[in-house]
Amino acid sequence: MKGFCPFCAEHREKATPRFTPDIFPEGRLTQGEAFLIPNLFPYDIHSGVVVMSDDHVVGLRELTKERLRDAFALGIGFLRRIAAIDGSLPYHLMTWNYMPPSGGGLVHPHQQYFATAHPGNQFTDELSASRRFAERCRQNYWYALAKREATENERYIARLGSGHWIASFVSLGLLGEVMCVFPDVFSLDDFTDDDIDDLVAGLERVFRYYEDAGVFSFNASLSFGPCDQEYFSCYFRIVPRTFLNMRDFAPDLNFFQAILSEPICVVLPEDLCRELKPYFK
Ligand SMILES: [Zn+2]
Ligand SMILES: [Zn+2]
Repeated sequence: MKGFCPFCAEHREKATPRFTPDIFPEGRLTQGEAFLIPNLFPYDIHSGVVVMSDDHVVGLRELTKERLRDAFALGIGFLRRIAAIDGSLPYHLMTWNYMPPSGGGLVHPHQQYFATAHPGNQFTDELSASRRFAERCRQNYWYALAKREATENERYIARLGSGHWIASFVSLGLLGEVMCVFPDVFSLDDFTDDDIDDLVAGLERVFRYYEDAGVFSFNASLSFGPCDQEYFSCYFRIVPRTFLNMRDFAPDLNFFQAILSEPICVVLPEDLCRELKPYFK
């Protein structure tokens, strides 16, 4: 079943907005199948949407290396362009709702990219906690986390290039959370094409695990701090989304999250790590 979709190739030209010439004289940007447009519901001053494919329905298996790499490269390139035009927005964020259980408004795969001064409570809390940790302990929290997890080897999934894949010791999602920490990347400026390749390589492995585990929807994010600091490293975060049951299609978020702001998780990070590790071999 499929209604009207503005991201489908045959509707894009008419149904999607263009950037104003002061930002992108081109109006829209593409890389491979990835297609960048301004966000129709701008949460902040500068935000863009990367449509990741020509196809409307794209399963995890079809989120190929090329599609993922092109989407991330185009979105990050967009944020770099914004940073060059407007230096007053220090925080950069990619967010991604995949498939309807995640809250995604359209099945057609797409990511949001934000340049903002107000990155939200979780981001702000982690940023200030990272600053306090650095002041108190004279080291970068994310570097210390990756090192500690690698040493303990209970939640440490693998290292792929510059990225450390870890099952988070506290999860924001019901079915556990996977993070990829890039300890040496602090801002957008530091994130190279090699880092994108490393991220994509790990993400493909997570997707293979999701397929086997019956996960078909997720929320994900990629966060960058300001360019003048070395206490807040870049990290990618992904949590599966599902229905609590298939009889009533109850969503996996309920009063705990909506009223109490209390994440609950039914998976031990050590078990999640053990299940994921073979996919990273
Ligand atoms: Zn579509
Ligand atoms: Zn501006």
